[in-house]
Amino acid sequence: MPPVDSRASGAGQWRPDVLVIGAGVMGMWAALMAARAGHTVLVAERHRVGAGASGGLLGALMPHLPDRWNAKKQFQLEALTSLEGELAELEAATGLSAGYRRSGRVIPLAGPQQHLRALQHSRDAAAAWSVAGRTFSYEVSDRAPASGWPAAEATTHGLVFDSLAARISPRGLLNLLRAALEAMPQVRIAESADVARLDPEGRTARLADGTEIAFGHVVVSGGVAGFNLLEALEPIRLPRPLGVAVKGQAALFRAEIDPGVPILFDNGIYVVPHDGGYCAVGSTSEDAFGDATATDGLLDDVVERACRLAPVLREASLVERWAGLRPKPIGRDPVAGLHPDFPAVAVLGGGFKISFGIAHELARAVIGQIDGGSAGELPPSFAVGAHLEAARRDFA
Ligand SMILES: Cc1cc2nc3c(=O)[nH]c(=O)nc-3n(C[C@H](O)[C@H](O)[C@H](O)COP(=O)(O)OP(=O)(O)OC[C@H]3O[C@@H](n4cnc5c(N)ncnc54)[C@H](O)[C@@H]3O)c2cc1C
Repeated sequence: MPPVDSRASGAGQWRPDVLVIGAGVMGMWAALMAARAGHTVLVAERHRVGAGASGGLLGALMPHLPDRWNAKKQFQLEALTSLEGELAELEAATGLSAGYRRSGRVIPLAGPQQHLRALQHSRDAAAAWSVAGRTFSYEVSDRAPASGWPAAEATTHGLVFDSLAARISPRGLLNLLRAALEAMPQVRIAESADVARLDPEGRTARLADGTEIAFGHVVVSGGVAGFNLLEALEPIRLPRPLGVAVKGQAALFRAEIDPGVPILFDNGIYVVPHDGGYCAVGSTSEDAFGDATATDGLLDDVVERACRLAPVLREASLVERWAGLRPKPIGRDPVAGLHPDFPAVAVLGGGFKISFGIAHELARAVIGQIDGGSAGELPPSFAVGAHLEAARRDFA
């Protein structure tokens, strides 16, 4: 079924089992998991698929450090490893590519202290980075994986090669998910469908154009704006916001770079080779900003630092500059699960900088909870109640 505009589709005359708000990486996986579980699904997206942070350029799938192991790190490890099987299945079914590759990551070491710490992390990884019979490494080395990758000046104190990191094309993934969803008769994607208000007890949503949608359950996966929808359900104004927006800027180049070489990561700068002769560079992290979608001199600085790390980029041609808003929840952990006060409402979001590696497993767990499953599949710090509690806590 082709994507439909909310008015054209008569979105209000059809009661989906699951209404998904937002067609970013979270909402699209939620729709897929819900449809696979046998539900009818309506995805309501105020602009278009990938209009938010998920429509960006970078697509780095970066593991947490292997030290101080905890439930959140274990969840991410398992998600990073299960993703490739999910993608292989979807790619086989649709004939499309998500641009996924477990290409690893290189991190130049800044000095002797970092070198020592990396050796410890290498031992930590040997203990922690094993899942489903596979083991990944965090190796300290003094040899770059390819000439000039990274620049020799960056590796005076050695480097780390981590074999767990991977990359994906953010837009490729969304296209893949969209194609998979459009092939399912029980799913509709309504673009230009802006959910203005939720009535969680009446189980209805009102669109900005006045259309009313009744639902069985709703999954709020509206990225940064999703926090506002949830805050509006509170009887009194929350003392702290449930989440905030952190602006990020990135750039895409066409470059003569082997798509198999690892991601470079140095002090917040990512250089991510992609298929088809593309290489993404990012990103800024801006808590204060004016225009959320404008790029500026901060991106120029990021690009300059990326060129120092990977001098081949100086010969590359710029294809696109892009900016968007990352949803960062209170407490920083993702927020996923049923709302403690409204059983018809589920929440999925707040992956901040790691959404692409975990969204499928968060979505599976959230739909599982809608179907009566336990919340125990997710780390307790991801629970909606944990986030609400932190936001409801007064400053006093
Ligand atoms: C520069 C930059 C680089 C990044 N790099 C990486 C990276 O390398 N790896 C990684 O994993 N993550 C990265 N991220 C973070 C990642 O992009 C986000 O965490 C992720 O895309 C968030 O997905 P989401 O589905 O929660 O939100 P979004 O992608 O923002 O989707 C939310 C959607 O909901 C829609 N919406 C909102 N409100 C409503 C409403 N009321 N009604 C209907 N629709 C609504 C929006 O239009 C939007 O399409 C990066 C982010 C930025 C900005």
